[in-house]
Amino acid sequence: PYDKDDLGRSTWGLLHTMAANYPEIPSKEEISNVSAFFSIFAKVYPCDMCAKDFQMELIKEPVEATSQHSLSQWLCRMHNKVNNKLGKPLFDCRLVNERWRDGWKD
Ligand code: FAD
Repeated sequence: PYDKDDLGRSTWGLLHTMAANYPEIPSKEEISNVSAFFSIFAKVYPCDMCAKDFQMELIKEPVEATSQHSLSQWLCRMHNKVNNKLGKPLFDCRLVNERWRDGWKD
């Protein structure tokens, strides 16, 4: 059995790390791969309720994958939608590369 919160934490880790390491100038193929990844991901994520909501959010706000900046900001907004739904504090998306790519300054 899986724990929804443990799975969520490690999944966000994977997704934000993918966005953190996404190219500044992606090729057409890289853009199409990451878009396909998220649409399949939204169908196969094991928590059914989470997956259904994520599918709906993807329709409202499709993947923005034209640069590292656009993808990581898009994903940050998607994660904040879940945070908001769960009553968690919203993350300041200006800090996303510090959190997931460069490390905190202190
Ligand atoms: P998490 O939300 O798991 O975040 C992990 C770390 O990411 C945080 O400690 C913080 O450093 C960083 N972080 C937080 N917000 C952001 C952000 N916006 N951008 C970048 N970094 C950030 N749980 C449910 O109960 N119901 C759901 O419907 C649901 N849907 C989910 C959908 C998806 C696609 C995923 C991956 C998970 C979902 N979860 C859902 C799980 C939920 O989002 C959390 O992972 C879980 O509640 C554990 O939360 P946490 O407080 O440990 O931090």
